[in-house]
Amino acid sequence: MTENTGAQKRQATFIDSQGKKKKQKLSPEQAALRGRVVKCCKEQNLAEATEICEAFFDGKIEMESGYHNQLLYVLTGGSMVVPTDTRPQLALRLFKSMQDRGCTIKEASYTLLLRALCAARQIVEAEQVLETMRERSVHFKLRTHSALMRGYCEVGNKQRAYEVLSLIRNKFKVLAEVDYLPLLTLALKRDEIDEFDALVRELMEDEFSPSKETWGLMQKRYRDTHTWDTAVSVSPEGGCGACACVLRSVDPTPEDISTLMARMEGLVVKDADRARDWKLFTAWFEENKSRFDTVIDGANVGFWKKNGNGNVPTRIDYKQVQRLVSHLEQEGRRVLLILHHRHLLPDFIGENTDIGNVWKEKDMLYTCNSGNNDDWYWIYAALGLGPGGDFVSNDEMRDHNFNLSEHRAFKIWKERHAIKFDFIKREPLEPREMIIVKPTTYSFRMQINADMSWHLPSKKAVPVETDEEEGGDADVSQMETLWMCLRRKTGGNTGNKDNGLVGVAGTDSESEQNPAVANTEDVVNVEVAEKTVENTGDKDDGLVGVAGTDSEFGQNPAVANTEDVANVEVAESNKEGETIKKSESRQNIENIEVNQT
Ligand SMILES: [Zn+2]
Repeated sequence: MTENTGAQKRQATFIDSQGKKKKQKLSPEQAALRGRVVKCCKEQNLAEATEICEAFFDGKIEMESGYHNQLLYVLTGGSMVVPTDTRPQLALRLFKSMQDRGCTIKEASYTLLLRALCAARQIVEAEQVLETMRERSVHFKLRTHSALMRGYCEVGNKQRAYEVLSLIRNKFKVLAEVDYLPLLTLALKRDEIDEFDALVRELMEDEFSPSKETWGLMQKRYRDTHTWDTAVSVSPEGGCGACACVLRSVDPTPEDISTLMARMEGLVVKDADRARDWKLFTAWFEENKSRFDTVIDGANVGFWKKNGNGNVPTRIDYKQVQRLVSHLEQEGRRVLLILHHRHLLPDFIGENTDIGNVWKEKDMLYTCNSGNNDDWYWIYAALGLGPGGDFVSNDEMRDHNFNLSEHRAFKIWKERHAIKFDFIKREPLEPREMIIVKPTTYSFRMQINADMSWHLPSKKAVPVETDEEEGGDADVSQMETLWMCLRRKTGGNTGNKDNGLVGVAGTDSESEQNPAVANTEDVVNVEVAEKTVENTGDKDDGLVGVAGTDSEFGQNPAVANTEDVANVEVAESNKEGETIKKSESRQNIENIEVNQT
């Protein structure tokens, strides 16, 4: 980006000490302040944000209206999943000043403030913020409720916490693990084991591989009756490496599958054209489904790792799809390939026409018409193959367009039938190696046995489309997932083996405490610390938010806030009939960001 020196673009909206908005050219001091704010937001520099705010409240500086949102982000620990080091009082003062001055306040700012107040146990102030949100008809998101529920748990107000919980359940259906953690902690603190157990039963449906924080809480819950190993291998047949247990495989019921298929159908058939196409497809599928046992999401395979360097290709890699097809066929699988029909048009398939012809000759290809989403077709077909069918796609299908993610059966089905794949670069000049990861023979999820023994998997590695670094990609097929085996103590058992973890914490042998309790603490602390590192850049919604550093408020706070600032400025300039455009105000901030670095 080139440096922008135009006087017009050096303008900004200011709010003076009387709360009046005015357009000003940036003086060198103001430009420097802008640089400070952007930098402190980027670095999440709490001390710097505090200093700037205090100078503002002391009347020593004037501030652009957009800075308020940015500073609030820093003061409330916007980049943290659970804000710990914050300045809630100062944030509240800044927030009130924003209200007084008529700044546009976005949902994110309200929620951040509410969250920081809850974390600081200032629940009365948090409720006031909530009330303001209601008065101003600010749209409530799950994160607002989550923050409040956590706040009530923190102060031990169980009744209010459960009120918010039932509100979340009604409105959002599926809870994230991060929402269960404060409730579980509260139940343990109050020694309410039945409530703890009931929550865990719910959690295990919503999160198949809970984080080490949940592991730690489970250890605490069972410390008197159970023993545990935290680095257990499970055999391909599902045999636990620490006890005699064999993990089970649990499929959705046929009724669940029918419900999901009907749901999918309801989603698709929205107009006459789609209804006609869908009818043709379902009739064809009913007649032909016995010929298939594996459905391929052709677009997902064909576009996999094809959009590097900022390119978004329109053509799939036909050879890549064919490699996967022939591999599965060699394994004896009967493949149904689903693609959007444009991929078979001469302009698209071009020199790969021969590949397309083979698919057609084998009658293993179904193409959907334009106006349709090919995902509907392959998901429906994969569901329709029943318990013996699998599908190939790395798509996690979290897209709300499917409207299926709130059905727990959908999650169970995905886990049991998804074949994951990857094409990885081992050597720069060698062709990519194809990796295929089939579902395990046992359900890859937290499981409980009749004797109240538990098995909890750590997070499973999945193929990701990250930018490739030299030296090759991670091979997920080689990554073993370790489990925690939490089982009843037997007569001769004296303590818990935390393979590897005790050594890290180093306190176990020195501890005078009950070894089971000491272990619990060690595991929780050590593994939470690890999580913070390993979660960086984690794209899995299920686990981001547990203990990592990412948050749903935006991965890059400086960038996220740039947008906020831009929007605020647009709103203001529109009101005043000014001509500054969003792109310009964004450009200014980005320029300064670039110049700073
Ligand atoms: Zn076991």
